[in-house]
Amino acid sequence: MNSSPQSLLPPGIHVLVHDWLSANAVVTWDDAQSASVVDTGHVSRARATCEGVRAALGGRRLRRIVNTHLHSDHCGGNAPLQREHGAGAPCPILVPAGELPGAGAWEQADSAVAQAGQQAEPFRADAGYAAGDTLWLGGLPWQAHAAGGHDDHALMLFQPDARVLISGDALWEHGFGVLFPEIDGGDGFAAQRLTLRRIEQLAPRLVIPGHGPVFAQPGAALERAHTRLDVFEGDPQRHAAHALRVLLKFHVMELAAPPAREQLARWFEDTAMVQRAVRRFWPGRTPAEVFEQTLDALARVGALLLSAGRVADPELH
Ligand SMILES: [Zn+2]
Repeated sequence: MNSSPQSLLPPGIHVLVHDWLSANAVVTWDDAQSASVVDTGHVSRARATCEGVRAALGGRRLRRIVNTHLHSDHCGGNAPLQREHGAGAPCPILVPAGELPGAGAWEQADSAVAQAGQQAEPFRADAGYAAGDTLWLGGLPWQAHAAGGHDDHALMLFQPDARVLISGDALWEHGFGVLFPEIDGGDGFAAQRLTLRRIEQLAPRLVIPGHGPVFAQPGAALERAHTRLDVFEGDPQRHAAHALRVLLKFHVMELAAPPAREQLARWFEDTAMVQRAVRRFWPGRTPAEVFEQTLDALARVGALLLSAGRVADPELH
């Protein structure tokens, strides 16, 4: 008998578990003919995502793409999936309402993807949804709830009868996403605390996180998240250093081949979000110095490998 948390999901909810570069995709069988998908992974994994979604549809038509938030690892399959499933009746893309202006226009310099120096394929969003809205997925009503902290506009989806939460990057089994608003002087810490309390009030039985496998009884995960948040809140520079490590490792993972160390340094120094973090948290240091400390920290724990002047991800390259 299979008693994994995933097997406890309501029928018609299929979680395609990906990796840290590419967020999980959740395919829901909305009725006998049609299905939706929540989040679509990273553009570099779009082919695998499209294949996974096609298999999970069970012959149904993909009628809608929903995003919890518009980071590059959550919406990279939007355009490819829309192309594949858009013939005749274009498959609409639903995004958090706060993101609707300019959503998917990654070619613009002020877009989130450009600011983080990441890769994504542009797409056109068709509609927004907001906290308080109800979305029908898998034949069940799901409530949208605000999930600030990691991203100001992020939403999570809660199904109150089955008590299942699609949490995006607000809560993983071991942690949560970088609190990006903190890098720009916003209050990501307070927003994340509010989001964790909101999850406690909802009291989900199962969590479908943006990364990692489905997990049950999230009490321990919430406790870990509060502890982690306490540490970051007590030492914002430590959180900023973590954010830069995540951005640097993510960029190496995006590249098909290990970049030269100098190429990686140039990317780091040219990325707008990195520049802002350095100005705010290491005002006496240059981006080049902060690059060296960030790379050293990742190499020390084996998260990146330095060899023959190149920087590789030990699991990908
Ligand atoms: Zn994210």
